[in-house]
Amino acid sequence: MSDASHYAPPLTDMAFVMEQWLDAPADWQRMTAHAALDADTARMVCEAAGDFCAGQLAPLNASADLQGCTWRDGQVRTPDGFAAAYHAYVQAGWPALACDVGVGGQGLPGLLDAALNEMIAASNHAWAMYLGILHGAYACLHAHASETLKAQYLPHLVRGDWLATMCLTEPQAGSDLGLLRTQARPDADGSYRLSGNKIFISGGEQDWTENIVHLVLARLPDAPPGTRGISLFLVPKRLQQADGGWVANAVHCDGVEKKMGIKGSAPRAMRFEEAQGWLIGQPHRGLAAMVVMMHSARLHVGLQGLGHAQMAYQLALDYARERRQMRAIVCPAGAGQGMGPTPLPAMRRYAASCGTCGCGPRACARSATGAAMCWILPRARPTRPSVRALRRWPRCSRPSLSHCSPSAASSWPVMRFRSLVATAMCTNTVSNRHCGTLALP
Ligand SMILES: Cc1cc2nc3c(=O)[nH]c(=O)nc-3n(C[C@H](O)[C@H](O)[C@H](O)COP(=O)(O)OP(=O)(O)OC[C@H]3O[C@@H](n4cnc5c(N)ncnc54)[C@H](O)[C@@H]3O)c2cc1C
Repeated sequence: MSDASHYAPPLTDMAFVMEQWLDAPADWQRMTAHAALDADTARMVCEAAGDFCAGQLAPLNASADLQGCTWRDGQVRTPDGFAAAYHAYVQAGWPALACDVGVGGQGLPGLLDAALNEMIAASNHAWAMYLGILHGAYACLHAHASETLKAQYLPHLVRGDWLATMCLTEPQAGSDLGLLRTQARPDADGSYRLSGNKIFISGGEQDWTENIVHLVLARLPDAPPGTRGISLFLVPKRLQQADGGWVANAVHCDGVEKKMGIKGSAPRAMRFEEAQGWLIGQPHRGLAAMVVMMHSARLHVGLQGLGHAQMAYQLALDYARERRQMRAIVCPAGAGQGMGPTPLPAMRRYAASCGTCGCGPRACARSATGAAMCWILPRARPTRPSVRALRRWPRCSRPSLSHCSPSAASSWPVMRFRSLVATAMCTNTVSNRHCGTLALP
Protein backbone atom coordinates (compact mmCIF):
# COMPACT_ATOMS: atom_id res chain seq x y z
CA MET A 1 0.00 0.00 0.00
CA SER A 2 1.56 3.33 -1.00
CA ASP A 3 1.26 5.51 2.06
CA ALA A 4 3.85 6.96 4.36
CA SER A 5 2.50 5.03 7.36
CA HIS A 6 4.10 1.80 6.15
CA TYR A 7 7.80 1.18 6.23
CA ALA A 8 9.76 -1.96 5.40
CA PRO A 9 13.22 -1.78 7.03
CA PRO A 10 15.84 -2.50 4.33
CA LEU A 11 17.58 -5.10 6.49
CA THR A 12 19.08 -7.13 3.66
CA ASP A 13 20.71 -4.09 2.08
CA MET A 14 21.92 -2.92 5.48
CA ALA A 15 23.49 -6.29 6.18
CA PHE A 16 25.10 -6.24 2.75
CA VAL A 17 26.76 -2.88 3.40
CA MET A 18 27.82 -3.81 6.92
CA GLU A 19 29.05 -7.33 6.24
CA GLN A 20 30.02 -7.55 2.56
CA TRP A 21 31.04 -4.00 1.81
CA LEU A 22 32.57 -2.71 5.04
CA ASP A 23 33.44 -6.13 6.46
CA ALA A 24 32.60 -4.59 9.82
CA PRO A 25 32.35 -7.87 11.80
CA ALA A 26 36.02 -8.60 11.04
CA ASP A 27 36.92 -5.13 12.32
CA TRP A 28 34.86 -5.61 15.47
CA GLN A 29 36.80 -8.79 16.22
CA ARG A 30 39.97 -6.71 16.33
CA MET A 31 38.48 -4.11 18.70
CA THR A 32 38.60 -4.83 22.40
CA ALA A 33 35.32 -3.02 23.01
CA HIS A 34 33.41 -4.93 20.32
CA ALA A 35 35.18 -8.30 20.19
CA ALA A 36 32.08 -10.06 21.49
CA LEU A 37 29.90 -8.65 18.71
CA ASP A 38 29.31 -10.77 15.62
CA ALA A 39 27.32 -10.37 12.42
CA ASP A 40 24.32 -12.31 13.74
CA THR A 41 24.01 -10.12 16.82
CA ALA A 42 24.36 -6.99 14.71
CA ARG A 43 21.61 -8.26 12.42
CA MET A 44 19.39 -8.91 15.41
CA VAL A 45 19.94 -5.35 16.67
CA CYS A 46 19.02 -3.95 13.24
CA GLU A 47 15.99 -6.21 13.07
CA ALA A 48 14.74 -5.08 16.48
CA ALA A 49 15.34 -1.43 15.51
CA GLY A 50 13.44 -2.02 12.26
CA ASP A 51 10.52 -3.60 14.14
CA PHE A 52 10.33 -0.58 16.43
CA CYS A 53 10.41 1.89 13.54
CA ALA A 54 7.93 0.01 11.37
CA GLY A 55 5.62 -0.87 14.25
CA GLN A 56 5.64 2.26 16.41
CA LEU A 57 6.90 5.22 14.39
CA ALA A 58 5.70 4.76 10.81
CA PRO A 59 2.00 4.46 11.80
CA LEU A 60 2.24 7.93 13.42
CA ASN A 61 3.92 9.60 10.46
CA ALA A 62 0.91 10.86 8.50
CA SER A 63 -1.41 11.52 11.45
CA ALA A 64 1.27 13.59 13.24
CA ASP A 65 1.82 15.75 10.19
CA LEU A 66 -1.91 16.44 9.95
CA GLN A 67 -2.27 17.13 13.67
CA GLY A 68 0.95 19.12 14.23
CA CYS A 69 2.18 20.57 17.53
CA THR A 70 0.22 23.01 19.64
CA TRP A 71 1.56 25.72 21.92
CA ARG A 72 -0.30 27.22 24.86
CA ASP A 73 1.10 29.41 27.66
CA GLY A 74 4.64 28.21 27.08
CA GLN A 75 3.69 24.52 26.99
CA VAL A 76 3.97 22.44 23.84
CA ARG A 77 1.79 19.46 23.05
CA THR A 78 3.27 17.04 20.54
CA PRO A 79 1.07 14.89 18.26
CA ASP A 80 -0.86 11.96 19.72
CA GLY A 81 1.28 8.89 20.21
CA PHE A 82 4.65 10.70 19.99
CA ALA A 83 5.38 10.75 23.72
CA ALA A 84 4.26 7.13 24.17
CA ALA A 85 6.50 6.02 21.30
CA TYR A 86 9.43 7.83 22.94
CA HIS A 87 8.80 6.13 26.26
CA ALA A 88 8.81 2.75 24.46
CA TYR A 89 12.07 3.77 22.77
CA VAL A 90 13.65 4.59 26.13
CA GLN A 91 12.27 1.43 27.72
CA ALA A 92 13.94 -0.64 25.03
CA GLY A 93 17.29 1.06 25.77
CA TRP A 94 17.79 2.56 22.29
CA PRO A 95 19.25 5.92 23.43
CA ALA A 96 22.16 4.09 25.10
CA LEU A 97 23.02 1.95 22.06
CA ALA A 98 26.36 3.49 21.09
CA CYS A 99 27.17 5.34 24.33
CA ASP A 100 30.13 4.65 26.57
CA VAL A 101 29.54 1.79 29.02
CA GLY A 102 31.22 3.93 31.70
CA VAL A 103 28.16 6.20 31.79
CA GLY A 104 25.54 3.49 31.35
CA GLY A 105 25.72 3.05 27.60
CA GLN A 106 25.71 -0.25 25.73
CA GLY A 107 28.99 0.51 23.96
CA LEU A 108 27.87 -0.87 20.58
CA PRO A 109 29.47 0.47 17.39
CA GLY A 110 28.37 3.74 15.78
CA LEU A 111 27.49 1.74 12.65
CA LEU A 112 24.52 0.19 14.43
CA ASP A 113 23.48 3.59 15.73
CA ALA A 114 23.63 4.88 12.14
CA ALA A 115 21.35 2.03 11.02
CA LEU A 116 18.92 2.85 13.82
CA ASN A 117 18.90 6.55 12.96
CA GLU A 118 18.41 5.92 9.26
CA MET A 119 15.34 3.81 10.02
CA ILE A 120 13.95 6.34 12.52
CA ALA A 121 14.26 9.15 9.97
CA ALA A 122 12.71 7.03 7.22
CA SER A 123 9.74 5.98 9.28
CA ASN A 124 9.00 9.31 10.97
CA HIS A 125 11.18 12.35 10.32
CA ALA A 126 9.25 14.67 12.63
CA TRP A 127 9.72 12.28 15.57
CA ALA A 128 13.40 11.89 14.65
CA MET A 129 13.97 15.64 15.00
CA TYR A 130 13.49 15.49 18.78
CA LEU A 131 16.33 12.98 19.06
CA GLY A 132 18.59 14.50 16.42
CA ILE A 133 20.68 16.37 18.97
CA LEU A 134 20.76 13.74 21.70
CA HIS A 135 23.86 11.88 20.56
CA GLY A 136 25.64 15.12 19.66
CA ALA A 137 24.96 16.57 23.10
CA TYR A 138 26.26 13.36 24.64
CA ALA A 139 29.46 13.55 22.52
CA CYS A 140 29.94 17.26 23.27
CA LEU A 141 29.55 16.86 27.04
CA HIS A 142 31.65 13.71 26.98
CA ALA A 143 34.48 15.59 25.28
CA HIS A 144 34.29 19.04 26.88
CA ALA A 145 32.20 19.22 30.07
CA SER A 146 33.66 19.24 33.58
CA GLU A 147 33.57 15.98 35.51
CA THR A 148 30.81 17.40 37.74
CA LEU A 149 28.58 18.25 34.80
CA LYS A 150 29.28 14.89 33.19
CA ALA A 151 28.28 13.05 36.35
CA GLN A 152 25.10 15.13 36.65
CA TYR A 153 23.89 15.07 33.07
CA LEU A 154 25.41 12.27 30.98
CA PRO A 155 23.60 9.35 32.65
CA HIS A 156 20.23 11.05 32.07
CA LEU A 157 21.01 11.67 28.40
CA VAL A 158 22.32 8.13 27.93
CA ARG A 159 19.19 6.64 29.50
CA GLY A 160 17.07 9.04 27.48
CA ASP A 161 15.06 10.29 30.43
CA TRP A 162 16.16 13.81 29.43
CA LEU A 163 16.53 15.13 25.90
CA ALA A 164 18.86 17.86 24.61
CA THR A 165 18.81 20.82 22.24
CA MET A 166 21.34 22.90 20.38
CA CYS A 167 20.66 26.63 20.76
CA LEU A 168 22.72 28.49 18.17
CA THR A 169 20.43 30.43 15.87
CA GLU A 170 19.10 33.90 16.72
CA PRO A 171 16.83 36.20 14.72
CA GLN A 172 19.85 38.21 13.45
CA ALA A 173 22.38 35.34 13.47
CA GLY A 174 21.89 32.26 11.30
CA SER A 175 24.78 31.27 9.03
CA ASP A 176 26.92 34.01 10.62
CA LEU A 177 27.06 32.99 14.27
CA GLY A 178 29.58 35.76 14.95
CA LEU A 179 26.56 38.11 15.16
CA LEU A 180 24.90 36.36 18.07
CA ARG A 181 23.88 38.52 21.03
CA THR A 182 22.83 36.21 23.86
CA GLN A 183 24.73 37.31 26.97
CA ALA A 184 26.16 35.21 29.80
CA ARG A 185 26.89 37.01 33.08
CA PRO A 186 29.16 35.26 35.61
CA ASP A 187 27.45 34.61 38.96
CA ALA A 188 29.10 34.48 42.38
CA ASP A 189 28.55 30.71 42.73
CA GLY A 190 30.55 29.90 39.58
CA SER A 191 27.52 29.50 37.35
CA TYR A 192 26.33 31.98 34.70
CA ARG A 193 23.10 33.87 34.01
CA LEU A 194 22.05 33.79 30.36
CA SER A 195 19.74 36.26 28.61
CA GLY A 196 18.73 36.30 24.96
CA ASN A 197 16.51 34.88 22.23
CA LYS A 198 17.00 31.80 20.08
CA ILE A 199 14.89 30.65 17.14
CA PHE A 200 14.36 27.41 15.15
CA ILE A 201 15.34 25.28 18.16
CA SER A 202 14.40 21.66 17.42
CA GLY A 203 12.85 20.04 20.47
CA GLY A 204 13.21 23.31 22.47
CA GLU A 205 10.06 22.38 24.34
CA GLN A 206 8.15 19.08 24.35
CA ASP A 207 5.95 16.89 26.53
CA TRP A 208 8.16 13.79 26.43
CA THR A 209 10.75 14.36 29.18
CA GLU A 210 10.72 16.18 32.51
CA ASN A 211 13.94 17.99 31.82
CA ILE A 212 15.62 19.34 28.68
CA VAL A 213 19.35 20.05 28.48
CA HIS A 214 19.90 23.14 26.31
CA LEU A 215 23.41 23.68 24.97
CA VAL A 216 23.49 27.42 24.36
CA LEU A 217 25.98 29.68 22.59
CA ALA A 218 26.38 33.06 24.29
CA ARG A 219 28.86 35.86 24.92
CA LEU A 220 30.69 36.62 28.15
CA PRO A 221 30.95 40.33 29.11
CA ASP A 222 34.62 40.56 28.06
CA ALA A 223 34.10 38.62 24.81
CA PRO A 224 35.92 39.83 21.69
CA PRO A 225 33.58 40.46 18.72
CA GLY A 226 32.83 37.79 16.12
CA THR A 227 33.12 34.04 16.42
CA ARG A 228 36.17 34.30 18.69
CA GLY A 229 33.98 35.65 21.46
CA ILE A 230 31.46 32.82 21.68
CA SER A 231 31.22 30.49 24.67
CA LEU A 232 29.10 27.37 25.22
CA PHE A 233 26.82 26.83 28.22
CA LEU A 234 24.66 24.05 29.56
CA VAL A 235 21.28 25.46 30.57
CA PRO A 236 18.73 22.93 31.89
CA LYS A 237 15.00 23.53 31.71
CA ARG A 238 14.69 22.48 35.36
CA LEU A 239 17.20 22.94 38.17
CA GLN A 240 17.76 20.60 41.06
CA GLN A 241 17.83 22.30 44.48
CA ALA A 242 20.05 21.38 47.43
CA ASP A 243 17.09 19.60 49.09
CA GLY A 244 16.63 17.40 46.01
CA GLY A 245 13.54 19.27 44.74
CA TRP A 246 13.21 20.70 41.23
CA VAL A 247 12.43 24.27 40.15
CA ALA A 248 11.91 25.77 36.70
CA ASN A 249 14.88 27.61 35.20
CA ALA A 250 14.16 30.94 33.47
CA VAL A 251 13.90 29.30 30.03
CA HIS A 252 10.71 30.11 28.15
CA CYS A 253 9.21 28.77 24.96
CA ASP A 254 7.55 31.66 23.10
CA GLY A 255 5.93 29.67 20.33
CA VAL A 256 6.06 26.93 17.77
CA GLU A 257 7.43 27.80 14.36
CA LYS A 258 6.04 26.33 11.18
CA LYS A 259 8.18 24.12 8.95
CA MET A 260 6.58 22.54 5.93
CA GLY A 261 6.58 18.73 6.02
CA ILE A 262 7.62 18.34 9.66
CA LYS A 263 4.63 19.79 11.46
CA GLY A 264 4.94 17.15 14.15
CA SER A 265 8.29 18.67 15.03
CA ALA A 266 7.94 22.40 14.59
CA PRO A 267 11.07 24.09 16.01
CA ARG A 268 10.62 26.45 18.95
CA ALA A 269 11.39 30.10 19.68
CA MET A 270 13.19 30.19 23.03
CA ARG A 271 13.80 33.05 25.47
CA PHE A 272 16.40 32.96 28.24
CA GLU A 273 15.85 35.50 31.03
CA GLU A 274 18.76 35.34 33.46
CA ALA A 275 18.59 31.55 33.15
CA GLN A 276 21.17 29.67 35.20
CA GLY A 277 23.78 27.80 33.19
CA TRP A 278 27.29 26.36 33.35
CA LEU A 279 30.26 26.88 31.06
CA ILE A 280 31.31 23.96 28.85
CA GLY A 281 34.94 23.99 27.72
CA GLN A 282 37.00 27.18 27.70
CA PRO A 283 35.67 30.76 27.75
CA HIS A 284 35.40 32.19 24.19
CA ARG A 285 36.11 28.73 22.76
CA GLY A 286 32.49 27.66 22.56
CA LEU A 287 32.51 26.94 18.85
CA ALA A 288 35.33 24.41 19.29
CA ALA A 289 33.18 22.54 21.82
CA MET A 290 29.96 23.01 19.88
CA VAL A 291 31.51 21.69 16.68
CA VAL A 292 31.50 18.17 18.19
CA MET A 293 27.75 18.44 18.48
CA MET A 294 27.31 20.06 15.09
CA HIS A 295 29.25 17.29 13.34
CA SER A 296 27.08 14.69 14.99
CA ALA A 297 24.00 16.69 13.94
CA ARG A 298 25.35 16.87 10.37
CA LEU A 299 25.83 13.11 10.28
CA HIS A 300 22.25 12.71 11.42
CA VAL A 301 21.05 15.05 8.69
CA GLY A 302 22.91 12.85 6.18
CA LEU A 303 21.21 9.78 7.61
CA GLN A 304 17.87 11.57 7.36
CA GLY A 305 18.47 12.11 3.63
CA LEU A 306 19.28 8.44 3.29
CA GLY A 307 16.13 7.46 5.19
CA HIS A 308 14.03 9.71 2.97
CA ALA A 309 15.57 8.22 -0.19
CA GLN A 310 14.67 4.74 1.08
CA MET A 311 11.13 5.76 1.97
CA ALA A 312 10.67 7.50 -1.41
CA TYR A 313 11.81 4.30 -3.12
CA GLN A 314 9.36 2.18 -1.16
CA LEU A 315 6.47 4.54 -1.92
CA ALA A 316 7.37 4.65 -5.63
CA LEU A 317 7.65 0.87 -5.79
CA ASP A 318 4.29 0.37 -4.08
CA TYR A 319 2.67 2.89 -6.40
CA ALA A 320 4.12 1.20 -9.48
CA ARG A 321 2.80 -2.13 -8.22
CA GLU A 322 -0.64 -0.75 -7.43
CA ARG A 323 -1.24 1.31 -10.53
CA ARG A 324 -1.46 -1.09 -13.43
CA GLN A 325 -1.34 0.87 -16.64
CA MET A 326 0.27 1.08 -20.09
CA ARG A 327 0.58 -1.82 -22.46
CA ALA A 328 2.57 -4.87 -21.53
CA ILE A 329 5.18 -6.17 -23.94
CA VAL A 330 3.93 -9.70 -23.46
CA CYS A 331 0.29 -9.87 -22.45
CA PRO A 332 -0.81 -13.22 -21.06
CA ALA A 333 -4.19 -14.57 -22.04
CA GLY A 334 -6.95 -13.07 -19.92
CA ALA A 335 -5.20 -9.80 -19.08
CA GLY A 336 -7.32 -6.76 -19.93
CA GLN A 337 -6.34 -4.77 -23.01
CA GLY A 338 -4.25 -1.73 -22.22
CA MET A 339 -3.39 -2.92 -18.75
CA GLY A 340 -0.02 -4.53 -18.34
CA PRO A 341 0.37 -7.33 -15.80
CA THR A 342 3.91 -6.16 -15.11
CA PRO A 343 5.37 -2.67 -15.28
CA LEU A 344 7.49 -1.94 -18.34
CA PRO A 345 11.18 -2.83 -18.20
CA ALA A 346 12.03 0.88 -18.23
CA MET A 347 9.91 1.42 -15.11
CA ARG A 348 11.50 -1.57 -13.43
CA ARG A 349 14.88 -0.08 -14.20
CA TYR A 350 13.87 3.31 -12.74
CA ALA A 351 12.63 1.61 -9.58
CA ALA A 352 15.82 -0.43 -9.32
CA SER A 353 17.97 2.67 -9.84
CA CYS A 354 15.98 4.52 -7.21
CA GLY A 355 16.48 1.69 -4.73
CA THR A 356 20.14 1.17 -5.41
CA CYS A 357 20.85 4.88 -5.31
CA GLY A 358 19.96 4.61 -1.64
CA CYS A 359 22.42 1.79 -1.08
CA GLY A 360 25.53 3.65 -2.27
CA PRO A 361 24.90 6.59 0.04
CA ARG A 362 24.24 4.06 2.80
CA ALA A 363 27.75 2.67 2.26
CA CYS A 364 29.06 6.22 2.29
CA ALA A 365 27.07 7.16 5.37
CA ARG A 366 28.15 4.10 7.31
CA SER A 367 31.78 4.69 6.34
CA ALA A 368 31.56 8.35 7.24
CA THR A 369 29.80 7.59 10.51
CA GLY A 370 32.50 5.17 11.54
CA ALA A 371 35.28 7.56 10.58
CA ALA A 372 33.59 10.59 12.08
CA MET A 373 32.89 8.87 15.36
CA CYS A 374 36.60 7.99 15.48
CA TRP A 375 37.31 11.65 14.91
CA ILE A 376 34.68 13.00 17.30
CA LEU A 377 35.58 10.62 20.10
CA PRO A 378 39.38 10.41 19.89
CA ARG A 379 39.55 7.35 22.13
CA ALA A 380 38.07 5.28 19.32
CA ARG A 381 40.69 6.43 16.84
CA PRO A 382 43.19 3.54 16.73
CA THR A 383 40.72 1.16 15.15
CA ARG A 384 39.55 3.32 12.23
CA PRO A 385 37.43 0.50 10.81
CA SER A 386 35.82 2.53 8.11
CA VAL A 387 39.11 3.94 6.88
CA ARG A 388 40.32 0.38 6.45
CA ALA A 389 37.07 -0.58 4.79
CA LEU A 390 37.38 2.21 2.28
CA ARG A 391 40.82 0.95 1.32
CA ARG A 392 39.25 -2.35 0.39
CA TRP A 393 38.44 -1.49 -3.20
CA PRO A 394 38.91 -3.59 -6.31
CA ARG A 395 42.43 -3.31 -7.69
CA CYS A 396 41.28 -1.47 -10.82
CA SER A 397 40.23 1.60 -8.85
CA ARG A 398 43.41 1.94 -6.87
CA PRO A 399 45.84 3.73 -9.21
CA SER A 400 43.90 6.99 -9.03
CA LEU A 401 44.05 6.83 -5.25
CA SER A 402 47.65 5.71 -4.87
CA HIS A 403 48.66 9.13 -3.54
CA CYS A 404 46.54 8.52 -0.44
CA SER A 405 48.95 7.31 2.20
CA PRO A 406 47.52 5.59 5.30
CA SER A 407 48.15 8.74 7.34
CA ALA A 408 46.47 10.91 4.74
CA ALA A 409 43.51 8.55 4.84
CA SER A 410 42.59 9.87 8.24
CA SER A 411 42.30 13.48 7.07
CA TRP A 412 38.78 14.75 6.58
CA PRO A 413 38.94 15.86 2.89
CA VAL A 414 40.49 12.53 1.87
CA MET A 415 37.83 10.76 3.89
CA ARG A 416 35.14 12.65 2.03
CA PHE A 417 36.72 11.93 -1.35
CA ARG A 418 37.04 8.25 -0.54
CA SER A 419 33.47 8.15 0.71
CA LEU A 420 32.28 9.60 -2.60
CA VAL A 421 34.17 6.96 -4.54
CA ALA A 422 32.79 4.30 -2.21
CA THR A 423 29.31 5.63 -2.86
CA ALA A 424 29.68 5.38 -6.60
CA MET A 425 31.21 1.92 -6.47
CA CYS A 426 28.78 0.47 -4.00
CA THR A 427 25.84 1.89 -5.95
CA ASN A 428 27.19 0.20 -9.03
CA THR A 429 27.79 -3.11 -7.26
CA VAL A 430 24.38 -3.21 -5.66
CA SER A 431 22.71 -2.00 -8.83
CA ASN A 432 24.22 -4.89 -10.78
CA ARG A 433 23.23 -7.28 -8.03
CA HIS A 434 19.63 -6.10 -7.81
CA CYS A 435 18.67 -4.89 -11.25
CA GLY A 436 18.27 -8.26 -12.87
CA THR A 437 16.39 -9.74 -9.97
CA LEU A 438 13.96 -6.97 -9.08
CA ALA A 439 10.61 -8.31 -10.22
CA LEU A 440 7.42 -6.40 -9.80
CA PRO A 441 4.23 -8.48 -9.81
C1 LIG B 1 14.48 21.92 10.25
C2 LIG B 1 15.41 22.87 10.92
C3 LIG B 1 15.82 22.62 12.22
C4 LIG B 1 16.69 23.50 12.86
N1 LIG B 1 17.07 23.24 14.13
C5 LIG B 1 17.92 24.09 14.76
C6 LIG B 1 18.33 23.85 16.10
O1 LIG B 1 17.96 22.86 16.71
N2 LIG B 1 19.15 24.75 16.70
C7 LIG B 1 19.60 25.86 16.06
O2 LIG B 1 20.35 26.64 16.64
N3 LIG B 1 19.22 26.14 14.78
C8 LIG B 1 18.41 25.28 14.11
N4 LIG B 1 18.02 25.52 12.82
C9 LIG B 1 18.46 26.75 12.21
C10 LIG B 1 19.66 26.56 11.30
O3 LIG B 1 20.81 26.36 12.07
C11 LIG B 1 19.74 27.80 10.44
O4 LIG B 1 18.65 27.73 9.56
C12 LIG B 1 21.02 27.91 9.67
O5 LIG B 1 22.07 28.20 10.55
C13 LIG B 1 20.95 28.97 8.58
O6 LIG B 1 20.54 30.18 9.14
P1 LIG B 1 19.29 31.00 8.54
O7 LIG B 1 18.12 30.09 8.42
O8 LIG B 1 19.14 32.24 9.36
O9 LIG B 1 19.71 31.33 7.05
P2 LIG B 1 20.57 32.58 6.56
O10 LIG B 1 21.81 32.71 7.36
O11 LIG B 1 19.68 33.79 6.49
O12 LIG B 1 20.93 32.11 5.10
C14 LIG B 1 19.94 32.14 4.06
C15 LIG B 1 20.64 31.80 2.76
O13 LIG B 1 21.68 32.74 2.48
C16 LIG B 1 22.92 32.04 2.29
N5 LIG B 1 24.01 32.82 2.88
C17 LIG B 1 24.14 33.16 4.17
N6 LIG B 1 25.25 33.88 4.34
C18 LIG B 1 25.83 34.00 3.13
C19 LIG B 1 27.02 34.63 2.66
N7 LIG B 1 27.84 35.30 3.47
N8 LIG B 1 27.31 34.53 1.35
C20 LIG B 1 26.48 33.87 0.51
N9 LIG B 1 25.36 33.26 0.89
C21 LIG B 1 25.03 33.31 2.19
C22 LIG B 1 22.76 30.71 3.00
O14 LIG B 1 23.59 29.71 2.45
C23 LIG B 1 21.30 30.41 2.77
O15 LIG B 1 21.11 29.83 1.51
C24 LIG B 1 17.16 24.65 12.17
C25 LIG B 1 16.77 24.89 10.85
C26 LIG B 1 15.91 24.01 10.23
C27 LIG B 1 15.53 24.30 8.81
